[in-house]
Amino acid sequence: MEQVGFLIIGGGIAGLSAAVRLAAVDTVLVVTKEELAESNTAYAQGGIAVAMGGLDDVAEHLQDTVDAGDGLVNREAAALLVEQGSKRVEELLRWGTDFDRAPASSGGELLRTREGAHSRSRILHANGDATGREIAVSLLRHARATDGITLMEFTTSVDLITEEIDGIKTVVGAVLLDREGKLRNVYARAVLIASGGAGQVYSDTTNPAVATGDGIAMAYRAGAALSDMEFYQFHPTAFAFEGAPRFLLSEALRGEGAWLVNAKGECFMHRYHPMLELAPRDVVARAITRELLAGPVYLDMRHVSIDLKARFPGISKFLAGYNLELGRDLIPVRPAAHYLMGGIQTDVNGQTTLPGLFAAGEAACTGVHGANRLASNSLLEGLVFGALAAEAMMQRPEIAAQGTAAEAKPEPTVALNLEAVEDWIAEVRAIMWEDAGLLRDAEGLRRAQTRLDALIRGIPRGSSRRAVEARSLYTIASVLITSAIAREESRGAHYRSDFPRRDAIALHSVMEKGKLSFVEEHAHNE
Ligand SMILES: Cc1cc2nc3c(=O)[nH]c(=O)nc-3n(C[C@H](O)[C@H](O)[C@H](O)COP(=O)(O)OP(=O)(O)OC[C@H]3O[C@@H](n4cnc5c(N)ncnc54)[C@H](O)[C@@H]3O)c2cc1C
Repeated sequence: MEQVGFLIIGGGIAGLSAAVRLAAVDTVLVVTKEELAESNTAYAQGGIAVAMGGLDDVAEHLQDTVDAGDGLVNREAAALLVEQGSKRVEELLRWGTDFDRAPASSGGELLRTREGAHSRSRILHANGDATGREIAVSLLRHARATDGITLMEFTTSVDLITEEIDGIKTVVGAVLLDREGKLRNVYARAVLIASGGAGQVYSDTTNPAVATGDGIAMAYRAGAALSDMEFYQFHPTAFAFEGAPRFLLSEALRGEGAWLVNAKGECFMHRYHPMLELAPRDVVARAITRELLAGPVYLDMRHVSIDLKARFPGISKFLAGYNLELGRDLIPVRPAAHYLMGGIQTDVNGQTTLPGLFAAGEAACTGVHGANRLASNSLLEGLVFGALAAEAMMQRPEIAAQGTAAEAKPEPTVALNLEAVEDWIAEVRAIMWEDAGLLRDAEGLRRAQTRLDALIRGIPRGSSRRAVEARSLYTIASVLITSAIAREESRGAHYRSDFPRRDAIALHSVMEKGKLSFVEEHAHNE
């Protein structure tokens, strides 16, 4: 039996934040689907929101988080996020994360920027617009230097292993597909899912290829509850150039003064929200979608006087590949799927509804973001809730798996027609974009459900990575659609054109073993 102390699925900010703590008490195995540095974390541009300016600042950060979340934020989780954020970021600084600072001659203070729905500048950034890469690299360096952590890349977690312990279904490990294509059952006293989001479920996304929601789908198959899966945040400004990837054009551009202009060259945000370009993301994304009906929408920084190449080196380099320049040209933008507010339902300590199974980061749903995440709160979420999950996981007994599941499972790998699998996946993604995207109604959502149901017969089987991902995307899509049909209101990122109003009572959706229910905000996670 292959046994480790703790098994962590995912090596982004949440997984590594947990790993470096857990290693103090037992062995830790971290698996990642691609190379270690490939994760949503590594792509984060704008920064990490953190209140480091004393109590007032913490209270304001909390209020901004709650306001952006449109009535659905779990206050306990949000309070922990903003209160514990600063000590976690100080830890990052000690581990060598090099956030941008003012020149030493002017005091060397950490620089802070502002993004949508923040009432003040509190977002730290690194290398201008490469914050995630800097954090990922420094966390990895720290994890590599920590005894007891094994990092295993190019390894896909396929399924969770459960056993009855004292009559209770308990997660005791996972089936892994290693880089040699071998299936291995690995047992652990606790498993943490930190496998990130599922942006790949939409044809237009800012997320990298690894973001297929595997961990969420796997937890659901094992019987864990998912929550708020209908809330997918669409980033307002992905690059919209024929044939180009949906590269993110960070909200920090608007934080530094960028305007949004329509096909006539007119600013339009005053028609949608008093915070103009810095309104909450869902508002800006819908405003752009409406303006796009009349022609292209652009980011305009021609009036901004700072050195844009120095402030946004990564974005500037990317745009140069298309012969575009921030301060010189209008940059075409449109929304793209970006961040999943829902996920595996957990309490604030990462405990899911299944003993032995924990989740943190974008794969988890503590309710901290409510219906709409405040910009730059997700890196902080990974840090804070990864650490809290680690503390709870340490309390698990050292048991315990009997290994009875060892001879069960692995599905034989079926020879796959790769082209057919890619076509099948592309169809799922197109359905989601066309009928379950930013603007929804019953007719479109039901059409999406019917189209998705029709795909079930061709669902890719076998244990190859792509087959695993195809099944994950199908699960995510079907739970998202079911939840979106049932939520007959508009709230945050979930906008129903047939139910444009917000209900008086805020309810979380919970999907468990094929059944959907709604619970009141305060009853969530109890
Ligand atoms: C372009 C872009 C810009 C962003 N900018 C910001 C920003 O400025 N500020 C901010 O706060 N947030 C930002 N975000 C969001 C933020 O980056 C993510 O929400 C956050 O990094 C998620 O961290 P995580 O640890 O939960 O997951 P991730 O960082 O996504 O890590 C997931 C890990 O799980 C692994 N994995 C997945 N499936 C499997 C499997 N089946 N088996 C094994 N391993 C698996 C992956 O290989 C990876 O290691 C941005 C996101 C994107 C895409």
